[in-house]
Amino acid sequence: MDIIIWLFVALSLTWFMSYVRASLSSYTLSFAALMVLGSFFNIIGIVSWLLFAVIALPFNIDSIRQQFISMPLLALFKKIMPQMSSTEQEAIDAGTTWFDADLFRGDPDWKKLHNYPRPRLSTQEQAFLDGPVEQVCAMVNDWHTTHVIADLSPEVWQFLKDNKFFAMIIKKRYGGLEFSAYAQSRVLQKLTGVSSVLASTVGVPNSLGPGELLQEYGTKEQQDHYLPRLASGEEIPCFALTSPEAGSDAGAIPDYGIICHGQFEGKDVLGMKLTWDKRYITLAPISTVLGLAFKLQDPEQLLSEKQDLGITCALIPTNLDGITIGRRHFPLNVPFQNGPTQGDEVFVPLDFIIGGAEMAGQGWRMLVECLSVGRAITLPSNSAGGIKAVALATGAYSRIRRQFKMPIGKMEGIEEPLSRIGANAYLMDAVTTMSTGAIDLGEKPSVISAIAKYHLTEKMRSSIIDAMDIHGGKGICMGPNNYLARGYQGAPIAVTVEGANILTRSMIIYGQGAIRCHPYVLAELEAANNSDNEQALSDFDHALFGHIGFSISNIGRSFWCSITGSHFLSSPFNDETQRYYQLLTRFSANLAMLSDIAMLSLGADLKRKERISARLGDVLSQLYLASATLKRYNDEGRKTTDLPLVQWAVEDCLYNCQHAIDELISNFPNKVIGKLLRVIIFPLGTWLSKPNDETSHRVAQLLQTPCATRTRLGHGQYLTRDGNNLFGRLEQTLEDIINCEPIFDKICSALNEKLPFYHLDKLAETALSKHIISKAEAELLVTAEKGRQWVIAVDDFDNSELTIEDS
Ligand SMILES: Cc1cc2nc3c(=O)[nH]c(=O)nc-3n(C[C@H](O)[C@H](O)[C@H](O)COP(=O)(O)OP(=O)(O)OC[C@H]3O[C@@H](n4cnc5c(N)ncnc54)[C@H](O)[C@@H]3O)c2cc1C
Repeated sequence: MDIIIWLFVALSLTWFMSYVRASLSSYTLSFAALMVLGSFFNIIGIVSWLLFAVIALPFNIDSIRQQFISMPLLALFKKIMPQMSSTEQEAIDAGTTWFDADLFRGDPDWKKLHNYPRPRLSTQEQAFLDGPVEQVCAMVNDWHTTHVIADLSPEVWQFLKDNKFFAMIIKKRYGGLEFSAYAQSRVLQKLTGVSSVLASTVGVPNSLGPGELLQEYGTKEQQDHYLPRLASGEEIPCFALTSPEAGSDAGAIPDYGIICHGQFEGKDVLGMKLTWDKRYITLAPISTVLGLAFKLQDPEQLLSEKQDLGITCALIPTNLDGITIGRRHFPLNVPFQNGPTQGDEVFVPLDFIIGGAEMAGQGWRMLVECLSVGRAITLPSNSAGGIKAVALATGAYSRIRRQFKMPIGKMEGIEEPLSRIGANAYLMDAVTTMSTGAIDLGEKPSVISAIAKYHLTEKMRSSIIDAMDIHGGKGICMGPNNYLARGYQGAPIAVTVEGANILTRSMIIYGQGAIRCHPYVLAELEAANNSDNEQALSDFDHALFGHIGFSISNIGRSFWCSITGSHFLSSPFNDETQRYYQLLTRFSANLAMLSDIAMLSLGADLKRKERISARLGDVLSQLYLASATLKRYNDEGRKTTDLPLVQWAVEDCLYNCQHAIDELISNFPNKVIGKLLRVIIFPLGTWLSKPNDETSHRVAQLLQTPCATRTRLGHGQYLTRDGNNLFGRLEQTLEDIINCEPIFDKICSALNEKLPFYHLDKLAETALSKHIISKAEAELLVTAEKGRQWVIAVDDFDNSELTIEDS
């Protein structure tokens, strides 16, 4: 009996020490103490002590452990370690990790999450949003832009330049606005609600492009020359990386430069002859300066001994001989300036390399570092802003449009997609705020930016499809009064650019996350690559044993969470959100465990098993999306009226986590391991379900009823009530319709009739003449009817207006 109790205590101790991630020495000491206790009660004898010594000593004496355990394992690790290309290595090295690392490591510190400061706008940034941004929104007519002139009007272009819209990232000392990432995001959110062409045009020069590259890596001369000109709009930049042969595999660009002597502006200089064929380049057709990525070669070794210097970025004025520029692509009826460019043996001095000749070959690193930041701002903000506007508009439309004698928004079938749009809008805004907040804290969050880019552009696409379905024919018939169709048409653009989404999900999110966020893998890889054998062994030994303890702990934690339903996990709040924190911690522990087991069992194959890494990335992503949502709820003062949005969004993330893990386990290449994993993670089966009908109903109601929560949901969007602003007009009509419903009911009961809710203007006339309503009430009915008619109307055209004449 005593021995059974002792074994039980020993097992509990082992589990507890692994749960709290105790060090090897602490574990050995506490186990030794237990052995002493066992000896005292005559349970532990000499044989047990000998066994303990045989196991514990080699592990605890550095020289023995390194010689007999770590050294052979290091040799094996070198053999199975995935080979990394230099571009992959540079992508891994670029950027930083942030709360994503906590989520990856199995035990997120929720207090730390809530202690990150909430980003705020400066007075100048707020004034810019209230001033020039509102003004330009009023100037742009999206139908005219997309259908009539296929561009922004010359007045809008001039306004953008004059007001430094292209200089949000440029430092004040060069004449720029030097806005925070959060402010840039808010500007883009507002612009995109009005016109995708407007938002893309402003977004690109402020994102990855010459401005950012110059500020980060340019020489003083380059910065002094170009940055003031970019800030004033005198120069229009673009960035040309993609070529017909190299899209996603951008590191394989065939464009090249050869170092040689040549004549430039009448002088003999050391330079490079550049040849390129690029496509899809935003702003290229009207650009004056081209940020060009190419592979630099030095066959005559004029610069150094290296002949292949690698990817290099240079600034090329577009007016040089040999450059072809000006033609346009036509991206999905959202005609922002985008097109191809070619260069044929264009000779420029080496000074044109961004950062000068010493930055030759550093182009890939420069690009991925800038992408870590830019990818978290432009496309996620455009997606979030678009869906915030769409959420309000679709809520309003659902309340105004009636069929079967009731607002369509009251029908359960409509509530379902409407709730998805509302909760996504809440979550997407939360993610842009948290991610740009991280950038403003000095991070270059490469994993987070990939998560934000992928999930927000996907949610934008699915939400706009939901909105189209809810609008029926109103969404489909195009014209100046259609506020959805261009967004719907253009949704795949955001999905494709800055790392096409399938690639981002399959390779980038988990691929970078696993190495950057894991506490030990990067150290192990670095040790394996270290040519100093002694240092390599010591570093590897340290990382390996940390890793083993970490893995055991995650298995223990995962099983404990499963069998206890995670009810004993701590949460920073004891309210409706408590379970969410507990379940997120649980899935975080599952991710840490699954990740180690996938790496250990698949080794280098994991890189090719994209569907495994995509699902691991899904878990990490959903944890991040839910964390951002909970942080938003807390930062905004935990207003319980917002809870339906939080509940829907977080429950959806949790369900998606469960689904990703379930699929991963079912498809785990080694079926035995897959079965064991199921026992540890889902011993009682999968149990989470999607947000329920009641939560969906409450979200749908919020979207259709003017209230503080709805106002917060659309915060920052362009909603002025002037007649040209379609979204503002919808908002006004929603209020008018809701205000006139009691008047309508009064008339129905006075006339003792259940009247149809239309011809409100005629009804007003009748009711006024019968003294049922006041003059003010009659006026409201007339105004509401005018708005209602506008909301349900669609545009029509003369045949000649739809026909393009042969030119
Ligand atoms: C409108 C527009 C604007 C753009 N602006 C610019 C710009 O300003 N500057 C610039 O340099 N580039 C720009 N691009 C290029 C853009 O970033 C690339 O299009 C993008 O990287 C994808 O390349 P691709 O279209 O050739 O697709 P491909 O590379 O041919 O990919 C096709 C499909 O295969 C998938 N795929 C590829 N590799 C993998 C993999 N290993 N695993 C799983 N799936 C994979 C992709 O996700 C995609 O779905 C723009 C593109 C467009 C369409």
